[in-house]
Amino acid sequence: MQILHASVLEFARMNTLPGNKFLSVSLLSLLLTFGIAPSALSQSPPPKLSVHWEELTAADFREGIHHSQGTCLLPFGILEKHGPHLPLGTDLLDVRYAALHAAEKEYAVVFPEYYFGQIAEARHQPGTVAYSREMQLALLQETTDEMARNGCKKVIIVNGHGGNESLLPFFAQSQLDKPHDYVVYIFDERSPASGGPPKKTSIDMHAGESETSKMMISRPDSVHIDRAASESGADQRRQKLPEDVYTGIWWYARFPNHYSGDGSAATQELGKFQIDWWIDAVVKTIRAVKADEVSLKLQNEFYEKSKHPLDTRP
Ligand SMILES: [Zn+2]
Repeated sequence: MQILHASVLEFARMNTLPGNKFLSVSLLSLLLTFGIAPSALSQSPPPKLSVHWEELTAADFREGIHHSQGTCLLPFGILEKHGPHLPLGTDLLDVRYAALHAAEKEYAVVFPEYYFGQIAEARHQPGTVAYSREMQLALLQETTDEMARNGCKKVIIVNGHGGNESLLPFFAQSQLDKPHDYVVYIFDERSPASGGPPKKTSIDMHAGESETSKMMISRPDSVHIDRAASESGADQRRQKLPEDVYTGIWWYARFPNHYSGDGSAATQELGKFQIDWWIDAVVKTIRAVKADEVSLKLQNEFYEKSKHPLDTRP
């Protein structure tokens, strides 16, 4: 019956071509013969929309924006050394893996590869692409502006790169400097705080046990585990300052090889646990953002009040 049904649908599709009146009549009698109501034809599921912005046609993009309720993901990666054993694009590959899988579960349109973030601290290493701060902020603003102009009124930046942890909240705060008709949401977690297979290492900030484990799931072909112990990812503690004093050179002072931890401790089990957690966390974020009807309203109220602050009363 399934096969018959499919072939009837195919037959019907062919008969939507103009000048096929005779066949259309035949189709109707065929449907009646097999007891299929013509209305059954309209019940075929719609073709699955891609979550990839760049893979949608213009018309399907319109459909995608509608289907996602204007919710779009901007997975944010970087190009930087990842120890001696992981590829330069580790953060980009991992964050896209998590974001794309999440969008498949809870539909959202996912922006193409984006890796124009803060990575000044790795400029001494091969393959790092470090844009100026002016360029980072201008490009991110124009990107989210263009996303919003195309209907993404809820832009979720899914951060895959630790070095963006100051840039992104600053970018979100700076959205209050002038009116925008959309909201920027930031999701900046990549691993659960606890649970899962016990970890073997205590320092694990960059290309270490967790990140290497995740790459064993997202892109196992790009992991050179045999090289993971060929450099030191130990904390060299070269700065003698109180913990609450910040300098830009802190990372280089501690991890000059741009490696923090020990990737050779990685396992697929840990990677699977962490990646599944990440995908699930992004799904929850997409759902929460879709349900959020407050942020844009408050933003608009704020923009309006900020035009005449002397009228604001407690
Ligand atoms: Zn990384």
